[in-house]
Order: sequence, then C-alpha cells, then structure tokens
Amino acid sequence: PTVLEAADARVAELLAAEQTRQHDTLSLIPSENHVSPAVLAATGSVLTNKYSEGYPSRRYYQGNLVIDGVERLAVERAQALFGVEHANVQPLSGAPANLAVYAAFLEPGDTVLGMSLDAGGHLTHGWGVSVTGRWFRAVRYGVRRETGVIDLDEVRELALRERPKLIWCGGTAIPRTIDFAGFAAIAEEVGAVLAADVAHIAGLIAGGAHPSPAGHADVIATTTHKTLRGPRGAMLMSGDKHARALDRAVFPGLQGGPHDHTTAAIAVALHEAAQPAFAEYARAIVANAVALADALIERGYDLVSGGTDNHLLLVDLTAQDVGGRAAAEALEQAALVCNYNTVPFDPRPPLDPSGIRLGTPAITTRGLTPDHMADLARWIDESVQAAGREDAAALQRIRGEVVELARAFPPPA
Ligand code: PLP
Repeated sequence: PTVLEAADARVAELLAAEQTRQHDTLSLIPSENHVSPAVLAATGSVLTNKYSEGYPSRRYYQGNLVIDGVERLAVERAQALFGVEHANVQPLSGAPANLAVYAAFLEPGDTVLGMSLDAGGHLTHGWGVSVTGRWFRAVRYGVRRETGVIDLDEVRELALRERPKLIWCGGTAIPRTIDFAGFAAIAEEVGAVLAADVAHIAGLIAGGAHPSPAGHADVIATTTHKTLRGPRGAMLMSGDKHARALDRAVFPGLQGGPHDHTTAAIAVALHEAAQPAFAEYARAIVANAVALADALIERGYDLVSGGTDNHLLLVDLTAQDVGGRAAAEALEQAALVCNYNTVPFDPRPPLDPSGIRLGTPAITTRGLTPDHMADLARWIDESVQAAGREDAAALQRIRGEVVELARAFPPPA
C-alpha cells in the first residue's frame, strides 16, 4: 500500500477515484488542465510545512533562506516570461489576487468598471454577489448584441461618464482576442488604473498565442492553474511604479503566510512555460478550439461571436431547444465534462442558462489534435440531442466511445 493508503484508506480511495475519473473522461472546462508530474511533485512537497510571512529577505519568521530562493526564482521566471518589472507570486488564488488590486488602488465606495458576468466577466470584476460589487460602486460593460464582441466605444462612453478609478479587462468566457491597447487608451483618457485579468489566457500569452497586456495594463492579474498549467495559485504583475502598492495589498493587506509549496510549483510551471514546447502547446490549444468551433458550426450550432480566437467556445443552445444545464449533465453522462454558462443577453436564469462553455487546454495537454475534433463535435451534438429526448442509452453508447479515446490519450502520469 502507498503511504496514504496505509494512513487513511478513505481519503486514498477518494483520490484514486478522482484519478480514475480524470483518466476516463475528457475535461472540456476551459479553466482546467492537467499539470506535469514535476508541478505535482513540487505541490506535494515539504514546503507545505513552512511559515514565511513577508517577502524574500524581509520575513517575520526565521528559517526562510531556502524559501527566499524558491520565491525569488518564481518571481524572476514570471518577470522573464511575461516581460514585466515586478511580480508577486503570493496571492492564494485568482479571486484573492483580484481583491488585492482593489486593496492597492481603491477605497470603499470608489467606482470600478468591469465586464458583466453574463457577458463573460468574472465575479470579482464588480458583480453584485461579490464584495467587489458591494463595497465598490460597480459599473459594467458587455458585448454588442449583434456581434457578441466587446464594443470599445461603449466602454469608452461608460468610462467618460462614470469616471472609474479602476477598469478591468479580461474574463472567464471571452472567446475573442482582448484589445489591451484599446483598453489602455481608455484608461489613460479617464485616469483609471487598468487591470488585465488574464487568468484564462496566461498560457496562451506565455506561448505567444495571444497578445500580451505587458506595456498596456498597469496591473496584470492571473491564476496559474488554467492554460498556464501550474498549481492552483495566482500572480500579480506590474511595472516598478505599482510594485509596493501591490505587495502591501497582498501582505499584510489581505493575506498571512504564502503557500510556499505552491510558489515552488509555480516556479516549475513557469520554467516549463518558457520552453519552446510550450509555445507549440499554446498554438495547439487554439488550433483545437478553432477546429472544434468549425465542426460544431457545421452541425448547426450557434457560437457566441461566431467562433473563437483562443482556447474557449461559448455555445448558445437556443436553436437546439435544450437548456445549458441539461446539456452539461448529459455530456457528463457521456464522459465529456463541461459547464453550463450564460450567454450574453441570456433570457434564461443563471442556474439553467442557454449555453455551455467548452475549452481545449486539458484535451490538448493529453495530445488530442484538430483531427479528433470532428468526433468530439459529433459526440457533443449527439449528447445534446440525447438530452433533448432524455435518451440514457444513447449517452451510454457515446460514453463508451469517449472513454476509449480518453484511455488512448491519458493525462501526464
Ligand atoms: N479571474 C478569472 C478571469 C477567472 O476565470 C477566475 C476563475 O474562474 C478567477 C479570476 C478566480 O480564480 P480562483 O478560482 O482561483 O479564485
């Protein structure tokens, strides 16, 4: 038995079951990925035993010489990979990182302009159920109804009228390239701080498959566990000008001790992302997403914005007359794991919206190529149709085919 099996059979059993689930299904959730064994090893390391409040050479605990080396390495690698002067690798995850941006630049009641959740923004960009929408005065931009794409003229109009102190660009369900220079011009015109939340596309940026916000945004916020393929964590990056404000916002503003095992794993992931193979990976993610989009469109599916430039597609199922939730549940029966998602101007409620969100980072890590996307689109189409007529037998048949492919392309060991 493994150490874990001997110590705690119940947890060991649950972990084994989750490993089997990950092996035998395909994750189409655009914010998920399969990390390398090296990232996993660093995450599950003795660094979890250490307290290191503060920053390298300025700690509130003794015994941090090694940890300082780990954190400096992660910071240097982030600076090099993203071409930024400053990086803070301590935010515990994406939402806390974004909160630190507010803590660095805003006072309660100040105005923030962010993309609305139903158009593809993130909760932390000022949505009402988040403290960012309760403690700040949130104004929201969306997408144009006819195109499904952000309208920078609307953003500029809103910014001129509402005079936000902080503007967010980036989000969780944006299938198109973000015009960082366009946002930067607006932020400059109204004197706002521009924060680019590139959580979803950080790996594409690192691999050169999406333009970088470096040189445009005042702050770049990102998680490390999506396309970047690192551990669950986050980073804040900026020019030297904002370094102190961001560092102080993270610690002692919002957090206590950093998760040093995560920091080490971030360092490993950044090293991996700096290799030529990662640029190929980033390009392959986009090629797979475009191929999947084309194959779904050919089958009569309506994609928000008509397609994708990146790693994700937002499928509007209104024409299929199947709710997003029923579709996502049917797809799970067929071993295709995705999430239901609102589409812009969605007439349906958030818990059963009109769409599903699909992404290719995880299946690209497993080695699937554009040649596989016709089959994938067929399985998605057949599953959605089966959801419409509640055909469990059809879903079981599809599941058999999906599992066969999944087993032929296992995630990294
Ligand atoms: N920002 C964006 C754009 C995201 O998509 C997410 C995650 O869904 C977050 C922030 C929050 O990250 P976390 O879930 O790590 O708090």
